[in-house]
Amino acid sequence: MPSDRLPPQFPVFDNAADERRHRKQRLAAAYRLFGHFGFDEGAAGHITARDPELHDHFWVNPLGMNFKQICVKDLLLVNARGEVVEGNWPLNKAAFAIHSQVHAARPDVVAAAHAHSLHGKAWSSLRRQLDPLTQDACAFYGDHAVFDDYTGVVLDLEEGKRIAHAVGDGKAVILRNHGLLTVGHSVDEAAWWFITMERSCQAQLLAEAAGTPVHISPDAARLTATQVGSHVAGWFSFSPLYDWIVREQPDLLE
Ligand SMILES: [Zn+2]
Repeated sequence: MPSDRLPPQFPVFDNAADERRHRKQRLAAAYRLFGHFGFDEGAAGHITARDPELHDHFWVNPLGMNFKQICVKDLLLVNARGEVVEGNWPLNKAAFAIHSQVHAARPDVVAAAHAHSLHGKAWSSLRRQLDPLTQDACAFYGDHAVFDDYTGVVLDLEEGKRIAHAVGDGKAVILRNHGLLTVGHSVDEAAWWFITMERSCQAQLLAEAAGTPVHISPDAARLTATQVGSHVAGWFSFSPLYDWIVREQPDLLE
């Protein structure tokens, strides 16, 4: 029986305005989902989306607005000097210090996500990469780093540069004593890596608290990474969450 669902593929846009609207909708939805999952901690945390036309500008949340209340119209557009060029709310200076440098160092990266989620920050204090304990954790196998430094709230572009350097070509970095940061070729992908990395931290913390977990072999972990850790896999894994949050909270698109 023929399926009426096309195979998943990246959306393609023929103009910047449509692509911008798409990215902003995904970004607002990602904030709602981060709020839903409890990744917010006061005013901390930021997900950014590169503008499709002004490549050194990005869209970000207004400082102090609850993730669960963010709509498309609330998003701030920030230029390469850290000035808000669209929107009326203040900008989180740490968001600019970190994300501007990650976006600059990685032209392929459309979006970056960082928050002080509970299991990610607990894991970050251990100064270790995640092990391939589960199929899901294999998305990060050989593709994430530890930023082994902590000197206070990141307000300095130089520290943002060092974090960007630690990300390298990978999809994620564990910021010691701080939390997780993920990147992707789409907002969907960056948000999904954050969600599943936070859960992988939780899974490893649970497993190690209960006993001595068995590791997936390096060969199997490498293979699994190609299956669950690709850009398309990350992008597609976000779509059920996007569909659900838009159905539940359609005002986010306003
Ligand atoms: Zn932070």
